[in-house]
Amino acid sequence: MLIAHVALPVPLYQLYDYNLTKPAQIGMRVKVPFGKRNAIGIIVSIDHQTNIDVKSLKNITTIIDSEPLFTPDIWQLLNWAASYYHYPIGEVLFHAMPVLLRQGREANKTQITHWQLTELGENIELTALSRAPKQKLLLSSFRNNTVDSINISTTIYNELEKKQLIMRVNYPADNIMWKTNFSAKPNLIKLNQEQSYAIDNVNKQRHNFAVFLLEGVTGSGKTEVYLNIISNVLATGKQALVLVPEISLTPQTIKRFKERFNAPIDILHSRLTNQQRLAVWLRSKNGENAIVVGTRSSLFTPFKNLGMIIVDEEHDSSYKQQEGWRYNARDLAIIRAKLKNIPILLGSATPSLETLNNVKNHRYQLLQLTKRAGHAKPVKQSILDIRGLTLVAGLSQPLIEQIKIHLHNNNQVMLFLNRRGYSPLLICHDCGWIAECPRCDRPYTFHNQSQKLSCHYCDTPRAIPKQCPKCGSTHLVPIGFGTEQLEKQLELLFPNTKISRIDRDTVAKKGALDGYLQSIQQGGAHILVGTQILAKGHHFPDITLVGIVDVDGALFSSDFRATEQFAQIYTQVSGRAGRETKTGEVILQTYHPEHPLLNVLLNKGYQEFAKQTLKERQQTLLPPFSYQALIRAADRNNHHAQKFLQLIHDRLKEYGDNSLWQLGPMPANQPKKAGYYRWQLLLQHTNRQLLQLILDKLVIDIEKWNETSKVRWSIDIDPMNN
Ligand code: ADP
Ligand code: ZN
Ligand code: ZN
Repeated sequence: MLIAHVALPVPLYQLYDYNLTKPAQIGMRVKVPFGKRNAIGIIVSIDHQTNIDVKSLKNITTIIDSEPLFTPDIWQLLNWAASYYHYPIGEVLFHAMPVLLRQGREANKTQITHWQLTELGENIELTALSRAPKQKLLLSSFRNNTVDSINISTTIYNELEKKQLIMRVNYPADNIMWKTNFSAKPNLIKLNQEQSYAIDNVNKQRHNFAVFLLEGVTGSGKTEVYLNIISNVLATGKQALVLVPEISLTPQTIKRFKERFNAPIDILHSRLTNQQRLAVWLRSKNGENAIVVGTRSSLFTPFKNLGMIIVDEEHDSSYKQQEGWRYNARDLAIIRAKLKNIPILLGSATPSLETLNNVKNHRYQLLQLTKRAGHAKPVKQSILDIRGLTLVAGLSQPLIEQIKIHLHNNNQVMLFLNRRGYSPLLICHDCGWIAECPRCDRPYTFHNQSQKLSCHYCDTPRAIPKQCPKCGSTHLVPIGFGTEQLEKQLELLFPNTKISRIDRDTVAKKGALDGYLQSIQQGGAHILVGTQILAKGHHFPDITLVGIVDVDGALFSSDFRATEQFAQIYTQVSGRAGRETKTGEVILQTYHPEHPLLNVLLNKGYQEFAKQTLKERQQTLLPPFSYQALIRAADRNNHHAQKFLQLIHDRLKEYGDNSLWQLGPMPANQPKKAGYYRWQLLLQHTNRQLLQLILDKLVIDIEKWNETSKVRWSIDIDPMNN
């Protein structure tokens, strides 16, 4: 008797055993009885063994797929990932599927079966089908050549086939694909030496696994290098995957891709319907597209013949999933390239310290672009000491004067403030009461435009109270400032200048961003106000002044990565100034002009900053010189989470590995969120393998405890922002 071990999308580590009565393969989806309902699962292994009483074994109801759903490289990747991240395999596999496939939709609907009219179909009177209107519609669209644009179920096709009006044609896959007609537009730009060197090096190693870091400031011509490398890959008939941190902010890059290649490019952005997402997934699995560009989860797109992965802005923290299965798409992309034995290119102006350390250890090959392409000049940077100065929505008078000068010359100005909303506090003027989210115990942010309070921790909005609930006063005042207030102030200061605000609130509005970007592209005096979202790979050639409104928040944080992230954002944002022919200027407002980090960054640049910071991390044994796992636990009454983590702490002590270092249990960075009290235990080890083995053992133990069912818990491997 054959037993199928099936993974189900449930938060448990175990597999579920079923009788396999029909032929099936590992990796196929199946329908199975699960409790009182039917569930969709995926077969992870098949053998003759089960721990369950054979009599109580149930049969698999249906086998959904006719072949394994994932390509072999993704299957291996996901299995590897489930074990590395200590996350239930069922959840991992289902996370990697388009929604419609999770729901059981067939995966081969858009297979490259092509239909063609038969001689009978071409000549028969349409009236012969009057009693079957759908068949008639389908036949007439075959005759008009509009069959691609109508939506008719396969059963109707089958009916016409039965009547011998249409027939299937099985093209050899290659014939109907883009490969035969592939061409790239001739490159009008003369590549500089560093670009050619980078392209040649990757090209030479295109048949095997290799990791490259393409390090180059904004405007140094990285995208141009990507285009050339991809061109070489496509020319050999292989596909390319390009990961970017944020699609909506890279329309110019995408346009350049589309203009360069005579080949189908699919963009996986958040506005796609589930249907479209599935279509892209299938196209790519069938080899019908040449390039897929997308954010984090696009990593799981299957390809028929993947030849290259590019991870743009590899340092960007959005590659790390921050809830549920907390994977890092950049790290997994490297594993995927290794499994597939293909090269991968990481690009950044400000590489992460992890990546730089791998370059130092010769695990990654460094390719550098040190010059700005074209005629762009270096940027002028200055620190503005704001101690004792009067600020208007965070702006000091000297900064306002500079803005005036740049606008007067018909240039554009960008102001960077990493806090959205109107103000971060709403306070009662008479008694000091603060409007707080009861689920998170954190102040609400006041949003003037939408006239709402919003909790930026749990994303819950609420109406603005008319009165203070404590003293009844109607005098409630916003304190502090965010991008919305900054925008408002600027409108008063510069009534004749166009102002665009780019943050999560405006990006969320459909079409709003496109409008802003177009208007900015047209040139002319313009002020952009935005959060760090502005730092993500954008090309604004007319910006000559970048003002960083508030530096100090980032310089004084408890998170050891905060300074690295600030240095990256600063370098990215200041890289936006003065591209092409105009000289740019960056001004940082700070109360701490002597801060050593600021001075290294400004006077010596990101590379020197990174070098020094890596040295510090090595001395203090922080990542990448050690490996971390964060165990989180949460409950609703603040009784169990801490206790649960204490149990883990004590158990780990019993394991007796003295190199395992534990910090906690302690309240999480955000101790209460959406009604849950949150605790954490940080584990650190200098040996990644040993840490993995400890966790393997621990998970088995944890699952046996009674305390476990009383908390929500998870393991975060290589945590960020903890
Ligand atoms: P990055 O991706 O590093 O920001 P891009 O590839 O977008 O850089 O290049 C910035 C600008 O310089 C673009 O307008 C691009 O067309 C141009 N450019 C790139 N390489 C060259 C080159 N070798 N000579 C002239 N212009 C170039
Ligand atoms: Zn009050
Ligand atoms: Zn909240």
